[in-house]
Amino acid sequence: MEKFDVLIIGGGPIGIACGLEAKKKGLSYVIIEKGPIVNSLFNYPVNMQFFSSSERLEIDNIPFISKEAKPKRNEALEYYRRIVTSNQLNIHLFERVLDVEKTPEGFTIISDKSKYAADHIVVATGFYDLPNMLNVPGEELSKVSHYYKDPHFYASQKLAVIGASNSAVDAALECWRKGAEVTMIIRGPEVGQRVKYWVRPDILNRINEGSIAAYYNAEIKEITEKEIIFITPDGEQRIENDFVLALTGYMPNFAFLERLGITLSDDANKFPEYNKDTMETNVPGLYLAGVICGGMETHKWFIENSRIHAKIIMKAIQEKSASEA
Ligand SMILES: Cc1cc2nc3c(=O)[nH]c(=O)nc-3n(C[C@H](O)[C@H](O)[C@H](O)COP(=O)(O)OP(=O)(O)OC[C@H]3O[C@@H](n4cnc5c(N)ncnc54)[C@H](O)[C@@H]3O)c2cc1C
Repeated sequence: MEKFDVLIIGGGPIGIACGLEAKKKGLSYVIIEKGPIVNSLFNYPVNMQFFSSSERLEIDNIPFISKEAKPKRNEALEYYRRIVTSNQLNIHLFERVLDVEKTPEGFTIISDKSKYAADHIVVATGFYDLPNMLNVPGEELSKVSHYYKDPHFYASQKLAVIGASNSAVDAALECWRKGAEVTMIIRGPEVGQRVKYWVRPDILNRINEGSIAAYYNAEIKEITEKEIIFITPDGEQRIENDFVLALTGYMPNFAFLERLGITLSDDANKFPEYNKDTMETNVPGLYLAGVICGGMETHKWFIENSRIHAKIIMKAIQEKSASEA
C-alpha cells in the first residue's frame, strides 16, 4: 500500500493548489480526482465567463494570462491543466475516493481503484456534484437538467429556466440569443440581487420588453413530457415546454463528510467544523480546503478567497510533523 504524508481528495483549483504547496514543502503527496483535471470547471457552461479577473484565480502567483480581464472557462481549464503538467504534480485522474478509515498511524484511504495510507488528508471535494433537487413529479424526465452546458442545444425550443441566480440568468440570456423561447420561473419576488451587476440590467430589460417571460413567487408543481405546471399568486399556470433547466444551486456531499467523522452544524447551513487557523477539522489530521468549507452557503467561498487554504494547511502539517518528530 502506497503511503504519503498527505493525500488530497479532489483535483479542483484548490486541490491542485494543495498539491503544489505540499510539493514545495517537500511533503510526499497525491491528489485523487474522480474526473478530469478541474472536473467541476470542465462541467461548467461552455461559454461561462468568471466574475473574477484572472489574477484573482491564480495559484501560487503563477501568472494567468487571459484574453479579457475576466477569463472564460476554456482559458481556466488550460491554466490549471498547465499547472499540473508543468509542475508534474502527482495526480490520479478518474479515480474516486470511496471511504477513509482512521488508524493509529494516520488514515487508510479506499478508492474505486486502490488503497493508500496517509498521515494527513485534505478534503477539497467542492459542491458541484449534487444539485438541490426540486422533488416534484417529472424531475426525473430526460428533458430536465440541473446542469447547463451549451445554448445551441435549446435553439428553437420552449425552454423553462428555474432559478434567479447567476447560472439561471446566464443560461436564460444565452439561450434566448440562440433563438430559444425562454420562460424564467422564479421562487422569489425578483431576479437575484447577487446576479453580476453588468448582467442584471440585461435580463431585466429582456423581461420588461417581453422577450423573456418571467413568473415570480412561483412554485413548481409538476413537469410532464409536454408541459410544466407551477403555482403563482395568480393561481396554477400550465405552459407548453420542451426542456427544463433547473438551476437551483448545488450542495457539498454531506454524507461523505459525516462518513469521514466531520461534525456539521445542526442547522440548515450544515457548516463543517474546522479550526480557521489551520483548516483542521474535528478529526485530527483531516483538513478541509476550498468551497466545501461553506456548507450550504456555497457562495461564501470561491477560488479567490479559498486558494489561501493550501498554504495554511501545508504550514500546519509541517509544524505538526516537526513537533511530533
Ligand atoms: C458558474 C460558476 C461561476 C463561478 N465563477 C467564479 C469566479 O468568477 N471566481 C471564483 O473565485 N469562483 C467562481 N466560482 C466558484 C469556483 O468555481 C469554485 O469555487 C471552485 O471550483 C472551487 O474549487 P474547489 O477546488 O474547492 O472545488 P471544485 O472545483 O468543485 O473541485 C472539487 C473536485 O473534487 C472532485 N471530487 C469530489 N468528490 C470526490 C471523490 N470522492 N473522489 C475524488 N474526487 C472527488 C470533483 O470531481 C472536483 O473536481 C464559480 C462557480 C460556478 C458554478
